[in-house]
Amino acid sequence: MKLSPSELLVLQTIQQSGGISRKTVADKTGLSQASITKISKMLLEQRFIVEGNRIGSGQGRKEVLLYPNPDKFYFLGIDIGGYRVRLALADYNLEISHEHEYLMTEFDEREDVLQELMMRIDAFLNESGRTHIDAIGIGVTGIVDSGRSRILNIPNCNGWDNLNIVHEMERRYRCPVYLEESGRAMACGEKILGKARDIEDFIVVHIAFGVVAGVFINGQPLRGFNNVAGLLGHITVDDKTYRCLCGNYGCLETTVTYPMLEEEYRNKQGDGPRMLDAYGMNNKNALDVCITAGKSIGVVLSNVINLFNPAMVFVGGPVFDHFPLIFEEVKRTILLRANRFATVGMKLAKSSFHDRQGIMGALALAGSRCLTEEIERLEVRGS
Ligand SMILES: [Zn+2]
Repeated sequence: MKLSPSELLVLQTIQQSGGISRKTVADKTGLSQASITKISKMLLEQRFIVEGNRIGSGQGRKEVLLYPNPDKFYFLGIDIGGYRVRLALADYNLEISHEHEYLMTEFDEREDVLQELMMRIDAFLNESGRTHIDAIGIGVTGIVDSGRSRILNIPNCNGWDNLNIVHEMERRYRCPVYLEESGRAMACGEKILGKARDIEDFIVVHIAFGVVAGVFINGQPLRGFNNVAGLLGHITVDDKTYRCLCGNYGCLETTVTYPMLEEEYRNKQGDGPRMLDAYGMNNKNALDVCITAGKSIGVVLSNVINLFNPAMVFVGGPVFDHFPLIFEEVKRTILLRANRFATVGMKLAKSSFHDRQGIMGALALAGSRCLTEEIERLEVRGS
């Protein structure tokens, strides 16, 4: 069924709230209490929303909170990284019910990676018992075209160039498909589901086997002319070091990713325990590698902070999760290097979903865009 603009507005307000009273919906939307009563009655009957517990105490009238009905819509999230592909199925509240992951190397020998991916999605949906999904969100650690319909390239992975993924998946699964570069998807996840809900200007940086970043300015993701804004991993930190896959020398990505930290440590240490174990034993070489990496990330972020003046910088991924010293060194370097007027009140924090930031971002894309696009279509039609 088609909803009217006011009905969609009310539904979106309830969806973004995590539990909200009718009165607060009226305050937030500017609609009258009578309209909210009528609309919420219809949304309850059509099972878009459900009622929760009564809240409030004392003499006043107790209010019933409204929630999105988790079973109304189902979303598929796909997180395509340089190392693995993750799939997750979530309900309307973006609670994950099923999850699966594959290594990127499993796609290496395939003639048609897209067909292979869709076959695996079919098997995944089959296993989860779901025959229909309402929207798909895809985050990809690579380059996405400005129309956000094609994957242009995934560094280091063969067969993923110029892939018309949105069109093919929309045809196969008969639902809207939203494609985004993964740093931007992660930032969307932080904005919609995480700690950045009320923040307009922020940056999310995730470091694992690669470096990805998403920048939000004035509440909108920064895209740039070619949809590649945020290539933090390819900012030069030391042009006298290794050559990067991009062709440049000394990119941040050639020094601070998980495998590069291991390699640096191995160069210093020779034989002995793994970097992670050595770090746990306060091994001097492991700590040195962390300090150098933290400085590089901190210098790059200081430049970014001077340029964009974010209110918050969120960092995540195994590099930060496993080596807390890197986080501390990044913080110290930013305080030393970034402009002091830019860092007044600015906070550096861990991102909300750690290792799962990518898949949560993909699900957030599906869940939020699905409804937002419907509203935009109505607004265009109405204007
Ligand atoms: Zn590079």
